[in-house]
Amino acid sequence: MTNVLQLTEKQITQMEEFYRDDLKHNANQYILFSVKSASINAYTSGKVVFQGNNAYKEYQYWIQVFGMEEDIANKEAIYFTPSIGSDEVGKGDYFGPLVVCACYVPPKAINKVRDLGIKDSKAVTDEKIKTQAKEIIKHVEYSVMVLNNRKYNDLSKKGYSVVKMMAILHNAAIVNLRKKVPGNVEVFIDQFAEPGVYYNYVKQESSVFRKANFTTKAESKHSSVAVASIIARYKFLDEMDRLSTSVGVELPKGAGEKTDRVIAKIIKEKGQNYLYDIAKVGFANTEKAKKYLS
Ligand code: MG
Repeated sequence: MTNVLQLTEKQITQMEEFYRDDLKHNANQYILFSVKSASINAYTSGKVVFQGNNAYKEYQYWIQVFGMEEDIANKEAIYFTPSIGSDEVGKGDYFGPLVVCACYVPPKAINKVRDLGIKDSKAVTDEKIKTQAKEIIKHVEYSVMVLNNRKYNDLSKKGYSVVKMMAILHNAAIVNLRKKVPGNVEVFIDQFAEPGVYYNYVKQESSVFRKANFTTKAESKHSSVAVASIIARYKFLDEMDRLSTSVGVELPKGAGEKTDRVIAKIIKEKGQNYLYDIAKVGFANTEKAKKYLS
């Protein structure tokens, strides 16, 4: 039986102090301390691993000391386990590209993720996304795929569904990222299609990663997916700023009524063809906007 706690520096110091007469040397540079009488190892990433029955008693003791609940502690430990995660942004936005990011959060970046409080990009303001992304990209490995509007619209015309485009981008980002990451790291995709559908869509790609775990609400379960979603959103916002500047109008996110009004304004000023380079023209908004034209 293995149990893991993800602890703060202060909590780890408290543990080390408690076991000070029961410590043994460990040559592993990532291990802060090991306990002699039970299999307990504390890592520089803030992770403490308890193995076997003796260690389980200690694990229960520490959960009590730190006021944790066992299943919450387990979820937290899984969240902070180094992994590769991928997520996308832009599929529901009329304006702007489709962006996919795959990210690897290495052990040394776990504390940074925790300090920045990275959780779920949907619950974070755009300003905070920018601040968090600029900081976290210095500490993680990632690969971003941006499908611009022209390519998106061309693929749509060829009959590609958005799910097919996403599958191809996720696979490409993961394949690309894995070249920079030590082997055997688990890969999580924030699930947008059944695995069978996904693999069918990528079967013609030159390289396919076949061992992904498809997980719903993955950004709340794995920090790698949460960080991937922050980076993807950051790149998307950046592209939206760039497009807004080139159009001379602030392009709204999403696909609501405000979007329809802006579409009408652009059609009036620049003609409908202009949309092909800045929007996903197959959305119903292109037609809906026409009622604002007169
Ligand atoms: Mg997602």
